[in-house]
Amino acid sequence: MRALTATLVLWAALPALAQPKIRWTPEKPGDGRPFLVVVEGLPAGAEVRATFLKQELAFVHDEGSKAYVALAAVPLGTLPRAHPLHLTAAADGGTQEATAQVKTAWIRYPLAEVRIKPQPGAVKKGEKAVDGRAKIREALARKTLERFWSLPFHRPLESKVTEYFGVRRLYMKMRGEEIVKKWRGRHMGLDLDGNGGEPIGAVADGVVATTGHFFGTGKCVYLDHGQGFFTSYFHMSEILVKDGDRVKRGQVLGRVGATGHVSGPHLHLAARVNGVTVDPALLLTLKP
Ligand SMILES: [Zn+2]
Repeated sequence: MRALTATLVLWAALPALAQPKIRWTPEKPGDGRPFLVVVEGLPAGAEVRATFLKQELAFVHDEGSKAYVALAAVPLGTLPRAHPLHLTAAADGGTQEATAQVKTAWIRYPLAEVRIKPQPGAVKKGEKAVDGRAKIREALARKTLERFWSLPFHRPLESKVTEYFGVRRLYMKMRGEEIVKKWRGRHMGLDLDGNGGEPIGAVADGVVATTGHFFGTGKCVYLDHGQGFFTSYFHMSEILVKDGDRVKRGQVLGRVGATGHVSGPHLHLAARVNGVTVDPALLLTLKP
């Protein structure tokens, strides 16, 4: 009995963990878009986790904003309504739980036709693309607990956007003026214009998850930024990193080219957050 009383007193003497304040930015994230979840009012050293639309969010304390920050995503096709975000925080002072309702928006993605033509000189004699699906799947299945990335993200190429994310596309493979193949798809990245040869910089610190010369994507690099965040860079003329390399934000990964399925030289940038492919244009603007 005495031991039990002592335990109770010890519990009561501990300061209670304050109720955390949850906010997110942008305020009404659209389907196919990433957003930042920011948690304030907790001491440094707390363990903060959350779930949102089947995603496990991992938070890291951000010194600049004195808040805990995590990346989250709204999958394409998510209905525009309130979706619960359940948060748990644990520190020396105990644990706290909180729920927030994240209202999402519905984005009207446009429709476009794309004519794919083999680009003269894009592939050197003797070079051949291979099926990269298994390698890419394996790279994206990596579970890296450490977080390499930090804000703000780096725009990999300073050039104009030639195609936005999410556009519904009718692809037409051309041989001269003749259509040899047609298929429907969705543009799952952001196209940045190039002439060929421009350096492409990493969006954030990370590890090279895979590289290769694959069908469709051409010469490409996939980066693992940790905690479920990946970026990829397609259609390069030249790859300048190797699988497993540690890279820094802005480090040159390769050069703009016209390899794979393209209508001309450009960078196709793609981003994945917690298994969800998201609009890289929005990602590049995120601030806590
Ligand atoms: Zn593209």
